[in-house]
Amino acid sequence: MSRNDTLDVAIVGGGICGLTTALALERRGIEPRLYEAATEYRPVGAGILLHTNAMLVFDRLGLADRIRDAGVELTGGEIRSPTGTLLKRLDLAGVERAAFGHGYVAIHRAALQRLLLDALATEVRTDTTCTAVERTDPPVAVFADGTTIEPDVLVGADGIDSTVREAVVPGVDRRRLESVVYRAVVPVELPPADRSRGFQCWGVGTYTGGARIDADRVYWFGTAPEPLTPESASPAAKLAAIRDHYRGYPEPIPGIVDALEPGDVFRSELADLPRLERWQMDRVVLAGDAAHALLPFGGQGAAQGIEDAIVLAHALATHDDSTAALAAYEAERKDRADRVHDEARRMGWLATIRSTTGARLRNLGVRLFPERVFDRFRRRRAAATPLPEDGSGA
Ligand SMILES: Cc1cc2nc3c(=O)[nH]c(=O)nc-3n(C[C@H](O)[C@H](O)[C@H](O)COP(=O)(O)OP(=O)(O)OC[C@H]3O[C@@H](n4cnc5c(N)ncnc54)[C@H](O)[C@@H]3O)c2cc1C
Repeated sequence: MSRNDTLDVAIVGGGICGLTTALALERRGIEPRLYEAATEYRPVGAGILLHTNAMLVFDRLGLADRIRDAGVELTGGEIRSPTGTLLKRLDLAGVERAAFGHGYVAIHRAALQRLLLDALATEVRTDTTCTAVERTDPPVAVFADGTTIEPDVLVGADGIDSTVREAVVPGVDRRRLESVVYRAVVPVELPPADRSRGFQCWGVGTYTGGARIDADRVYWFGTAPEPLTPESASPAAKLAAIRDHYRGYPEPIPGIVDALEPGDVFRSELADLPRLERWQMDRVVLAGDAAHALLPFGGQGAAQGIEDAIVLAHALATHDDSTAALAAYEAERKDRADRVHDEARRMGWLATIRSTTGARLRNLGVRLFPERVFDRFRRRRAAATPLPEDGSGA
C-alpha cells in the first residue's frame, strides 16, 4: 500500500481538511494521529456546496456515494438580479456530471463531518490545543496541557488562524473583507424548480442564495456590507433586521427568510489569507485554510483543502524522504490553490460591490458573458483535479 506505513504523521486540526487528510493517509496504510482543539464535534448550523473537484477526490477515497446520498445532487444553478432577471443558468448535470460522473452536491456541514468521522479508523483527540511548534526538524509541537509530541511529520490543518503556520511563515494574519455573512439551515419547502438547483442573487453590496441540503432543509446565506444589528440585539430584533434586508429579493429568498426562527442564523466575518510564500518548512507542512484560506465566493475553500489531503497523502506514501515528500506536495498544489485564491478574491470584490451603477454593470456583464465560457471554465477545473493513484491496486 505504502512504502512508509510506519511513518508517524501528526495532524493538528480536525476540520474538513484534517479529517480528509487522515482518511487519505489511512487509505495509504498510514495511521495518523489527529489533534483537535474543540472539546467535541458540535453540529454547525450551515450547509456547504461540494464542487466536482471535491467530489472526485471523495470518490477516490470511497466516500462520494455516501456524501451524495446524505446531501442533494444539484442539476443546475441560477444567478438572478435583485429584480429577478435571470443573469445566468448553469447546467451542472449536463456539464460536470455527464463528463465526470460526479457534480455539485449540497450537504449539511454536520452530515459531512459525521461521514468523515465514521469513515475514519483514527480516533480524533479532542480538547487538545496545539499552542506552539518549537522545532521543525524533527517537528516538536506543544499542547495546552504541557505535553509535547515529536512526530516524523507535522501537518497544520488548523484553519485560517493556524498556530502551526507560525513555524512555517511567521506573522501572517487574516485579511478582513468589509462585509459579513449570515447563514442558516431552514426547514422550508422550496418551489419544485428550486429543489435540485442552487440559487444566487447578486445585489448591491449583498449576495444571497442557497440550496436544498436534504429532504426538508435548505441552506441559506446572505452577505451584508456591515452587521445589520449590534451583537447585543435580541434574537428577535436580529431576525427582524434580516427579514427586512432580504425580503425584497426574488423568490425563494423571501420564503426562506420568513421561515427563519430567532436563533437559527449565525453571522461570520469574511476573511482570507494573503498568498503564502511557502507551505512547508523541513518536516512541518500546512494544508487547507491554514495554507490558503479563500473568500467563500467561488465555493472552493473546502474543495482546495480536500485536494491538499489526497496529494499530501500520496506524497508521504511514495517518498522515502519526508522533506522531499512535502516539497513535492507543495510543488503540485500551491500554484493551483493560489490561482483559485485569486479568483475567489476577484469574485468577492465583484459580489460585494456597493455602488448601484457598479452592481448594474456587473450584472449586465454576467448576463452577456457566454454560458459556454462558464461551462468550459468549470470543466477545466474538474479535469485538473489532482487524483494520484491510490496505491492499493484497487
Ligand atoms: C460563509 C462561508 C461559506 C463557505 N462555503 C463553502 C462552500 O460552499 N464550499 C467550499 O468548498 N468551501 C466553503 N467555505 C470554505 C470552507 O468552509 C473552509 O475552506 C473549510 O471549512 C476549511 O477547512 P479546514 O479544515 O482547512 O479549516 P477549519 O474548518 O477552520 O478547521 C480547522 C480545525 O482546526 C482546529 N484548530 C484550530 N486551531 C487549533 C489548534 N491550535 N490546535 C488544535 N486544533 C486546532 C479547529 O477547531 C478546527 O476544527 C465557506 C466558508 C465560509 C466562511
